[in-house]
Amino acid sequence: MDKLRFQSFGSGSSGNCYFIGNASNGILIDAGIGVRSIRKCLRNIGLDFENIWGVFVTHDHADHIKAVGSIGEKHRVPIYTTRHVHEGIQRSYCVTEKLYSSKKYIEKNQSVQVGEFMITSFPVSHDATDSVGYTIEYNGKKITFATDLGFISEEVGEHLKVADYMVLEANYDAQMLEQGSYPIHLKNRIAAKTGHLSNDQAGIFLAENYNERVQHIFLCHLSRENNLPNLAYTTIQNYLESKQIIVGRDVNLITLDRLTPSELYIF
Ligand SMILES: [Zn+2]
Ligand SMILES: [Zn+2]
Repeated sequence: MDKLRFQSFGSGSSGNCYFIGNASNGILIDAGIGVRSIRKCLRNIGLDFENIWGVFVTHDHADHIKAVGSIGEKHRVPIYTTRHVHEGIQRSYCVTEKLYSSKKYIEKNQSVQVGEFMITSFPVSHDATDSVGYTIEYNGKKITFATDLGFISEEVGEHLKVADYMVLEANYDAQMLEQGSYPIHLKNRIAAKTGHLSNDQAGIFLAENYNERVQHIFLCHLSRENNLPNLAYTTIQNYLESKQIIVGRDVNLITLDRLTPSELYIF
């Protein structure tokens, strides 16, 4: 089988979109950046919307769904998510083109097969209408996406612990958030159990649950105001090294840029 490919097209509150697939087709996780940017990114890797089996949406916040209407209805790509997230998308002011024929429903903890990819969703804790993470299996490898989550529940942990690759949120540095300029209600919202994952939360989990199966850890959804790529990286590196897990030797650690597409990873 063709090798697994992964690329981030954008990651963070300005818009999230990730490609996972192979040389000839694949799926997208979220479509929160402009449809033209997504198409450009796909063309750069020799693909177009006709090669996309589906968009799997994590939740109905604007930075994850902005382009689903046009990708679904105009480009005829099925949009998969839970019933509640679909309801949220239909209500959302930022999706001007509503979904009709492209709407596909999934159930949490159940798997769907699209093309050569098996996708399983699992619940995550976040302040959206409904929220899920995804594990994609292809050719015996698993890649797990867990973004926009207030904490790593046991269920989320079960997915991350057996992943070969993971895209995990490292949204904020606790001190930067506390000392930053955000109003107190927003600070509380971000730090809540239904908010976002901090560098410490991600690092502690990764260090305590290291499995030698994991090869690449991609840190996603970094906050512009409350985090720095270097800080996220070194914080998590330090947690890992406190358990003798050496970055570069035992695992690869990569921070995904907010606005620039990552390189194309071929595993
Ligand atoms: Zn988000
Ligand atoms: Zn969100």
